[in-house]
Amino acid sequence: MSERRYMLHPGPVTSADGDIHHVSARELLRLYRVRADECYVCPACQGRIGYVCDDRGVIGLWPDSSGRYELPNKEEPRDE
Ligand SMILES: [Zn+2]
Repeated sequence: MSERRYMLHPGPVTSADGDIHHVSARELLRLYRVRADECYVCPACQGRIGYVCDDRGVIGLWPDSSGRYELPNKEEPRDE
């Protein structure tokens, strides 16, 4: 299986106007335009005890204070 995998890191982000917003996993899906079945949700960011954020083998998607939500380019070609 060569399915692309992402790790969603929901959490607080400080916007340019200084307000703190909480970006949910659902909002990250929408902002990054990825499908739920392409993603894991980070257990650490869900507040589970004993987990730390770990993006090994996946692409981490985080809230962005600048409002830029673009998927990082990967070396592998993308199926269009
Ligand atoms: Zn996380």
